[in-house]
Amino acid sequence: MSIKITEECINCGACESECPNQAIYEGGKMWSMSDGTSLKKRKEELKIDPTIPKDPRKQEIYFVVSEKCTECVGFYEEPQCAMICPVNCCILDKNHLESKEDLFKKKNFLHGE
Ligand code: SF4
Ligand code: SF4
Repeated sequence: MSIKITEECINCGACESECPNQAIYEGGKMWSMSDGTSLKKRKEELKIDPTIPKDPRKQEIYFVVSEKCTECVGFYEEPQCAMICPVNCCILDKNHLESKEDLFKKKNFLHGE
């Protein structure tokens, strides 16, 4: 499952640097799959260009790119954003259910095995 950030976010920015996948972005910022991952190096083998900048998913508050969030699997025991957030607004996103095995696969996809 991915984490999502709720409207309670106070834009403190504490979570952004904690994410091992660079899956968290400030509201209004463009994002890409290659930010903070090894996908750029493997561009040739991928069907899509991971460096293409994508539109922000939120304008006013920080947001999580679910395609990049692994719940910190492969790096930490607990989601780091949820641990550090002072207002507890990083919660599980039930619209993006994934098993632990799938999260490991996602981590390997993002960073190489
Ligand atoms: S759970 Fe981990 S991987 Fe997902 S957004 Fe939070 S810090 Fe990033
Ligand atoms: S730590 Fe929490 S309040 Fe601060 S920017 Fe991240 S989600 Fe928002």
